[in-house]
Amino acid sequence: MKIITFFASRFVAGETMDKGIKATKKLNDKNILCTMDILGEDVNNKEEAERFADDYIKLLEEISKTGVNSNVSIKLSMTGLMIDEDFCLKNTERIIKRAKELDNYIRIDMEGSDVTDMTLRIFKTLYKKYPKHVGIVLQAMLFRTEKDVEEMNKLKARVRICKGAYKEPVSISWKKMDDIRINYMKMVKLLIDKGVYPGVATHDSQMIKATLDYVKEKKIPNEKFEFQMLYGIARAKQQELARDGYNVRVYVPFGTAWFPYYFRRLREKKENVFFIMKHFFGR
Ligand SMILES: Cc1cc2nc3c(=O)[nH]c(=O)nc-3n(C[C@H](O)[C@H](O)[C@H](O)COP(=O)(O)OP(=O)(O)OC[C@H]3O[C@@H](n4cnc5c(N)ncnc54)[C@H](O)[C@@H]3O)c2cc1C
Repeated sequence: MKIITFFASRFVAGETMDKGIKATKKLNDKNILCTMDILGEDVNNKEEAERFADDYIKLLEEISKTGVNSNVSIKLSMTGLMIDEDFCLKNTERIIKRAKELDNYIRIDMEGSDVTDMTLRIFKTLYKKYPKHVGIVLQAMLFRTEKDVEEMNKLKARVRICKGAYKEPVSISWKKMDDIRINYMKMVKLLIDKGVYPGVATHDSQMIKATLDYVKEKKIPNEKFEFQMLYGIARAKQQELARDGYNVRVYVPFGTAWFPYYFRRLREKKENVFFIMKHFFGR
């Protein structure tokens, strides 16, 4: 367990809020914005879901107190989505209400396709009440996403566009990386042309270059969008983009329930498994 904790520390800022804040401060010092996330998913009882919402409220208060430059990303499966939609809505609203009071912002992460509709329903209800304080994530690997992007653009809701980290059925999603990339760039362009301050969330150098080429060609000012990357991944690129004057936001996860997040990062990239092997056998 201790060894895994050591390896996970490449992708997870630590197990405590204090460690998360420290990692955020270090990134802020390099001109990088953050979005902090408490790790965990699939909460099945109301007490635990309420405790997570309380923790998120504590996190918003700590961000305000310490003055670090970070908003917060949440997963609705942690605030009760698997228990009851209405309960989840009310529990999540407590977090967003506090974000409004503290002039901060909540990004609702997108999970597997079994909860996309519920997640979007809850988002839209909250967005109506707190338009400046909540945003959503959409996944370019899903066939449905173009329609969702168009709807979000009409609502003027802020979208983070990513490829999608969950294993999805072939009937609803692209499987080949080339197809996902084509749709990813189509979504990025739609969001840059007609959306509000999109978050281009990728470490894929082809996608980053295509985005840079597009904004240069269209003369889109840097303040109209941001790049987003995960803690510990493509660190040199994060710093290079920030130095070049682009807004860069890093997703900083922390908490004790780090395993599912860590496992998704491992599954995405063979080199991560090699990274572990090298350290494991090299010591
Ligand atoms: C800020 C942010 C928020 C996200 N939020 C969500 C969300 O809410 N819902 C969701 O489903 N997904 C989310 N994702 C994950 C996303 O959907 C992809 O699974 C993930 O970003 C990998 O796709 P990619 O485009 O970055 O790069 P890929 O095409 O997978 O990889 C491109 C290059 O990036 C580097 N790289 C990528 N991943 C890793 C890794 N794990 N370790 C080391 N190097 C790596 C490698 O150099 C690789 O060659 C988020 C991603 C980011 C950056």
